[in-house]
Amino acid sequence: MIIVLFGAPGVGKGTVAEILCRRYGIPHVSTGDILRTHIAKKTEAGEKIREFVDAGFLVPDEIVTEVVRDRVGKTDCAKGFLLDGFPRTVEQARELDKIAAERGEKIHVFNIDVPEDVIVRRLCARRICPKCGAIYNLEFRPPKKDMLCDCCGAALAHRHDDRDEIIKVRLREYGKMTKPVLDYYGKKGMAAHASGLYSEEVINKIVGVLEKK
Ligand code: AMP
Repeated sequence: MIIVLFGAPGVGKGTVAEILCRRYGIPHVSTGDILRTHIAKKTEAGEKIREFVDAGFLVPDEIVTEVVRDRVGKTDCAKGFLLDGFPRTVEQARELDKIAAERGEKIHVFNIDVPEDVIVRRLCARRICPKCGAIYNLEFRPPKKDMLCDCCGAALAHRHDDRDEIIKVRLREYGKMTKPVLDYYGKKGMAAHASGLYSEEVINKIVGVLEKK
């Protein structure tokens, strides 16, 4: 099973992904996380990736599709995986179709839609644990101890691209480059809608659709 969580930055894909992956025992493949690891580890591609990510632009398709092919080729993805943040362009969606065909697997796409003012507020208040990846929100999901991760105790970080001016660029990129992917899947009858302001609501809709199939 290949699950794709689709939606603008800040709709809650990461939180929903963590819970679904635990439920179905499949790995959470977040292209944003993988790209940030390249940056942190200063890999050969890392410096180029940083320029795009820090500015809020999409990383070129060739780099991202290589990263995804490499990740989903690992043994833990043999029974399926959940994609969070991929595909973000029609070209990437075509590439994913090829990957699914090669593996003989079906793609289940879920679109999560949240109003833009909610997204901006959420992203500005989002904090992440750089060590274990846990996601917090200073407004509605704060850590128990001031700015420390509940799970591993590491100091929480505010992502460079979760700042007002970069968020605007990311949302523009989403409208221009990523939204057309929804039409691509819509025309093929592949996209189910799972919108909701709360992750529980979104998860229930997704589980309802998956368990009917
Ligand atoms: P995310 O953590 O999903 O919000 O992604 C953070 C940033 O990583 C994005 O703003 C892009 O710069 C880059 N990125 C993540 N996934 C992709 C993708 N599929 N295609 C291009 N760039 C991506």
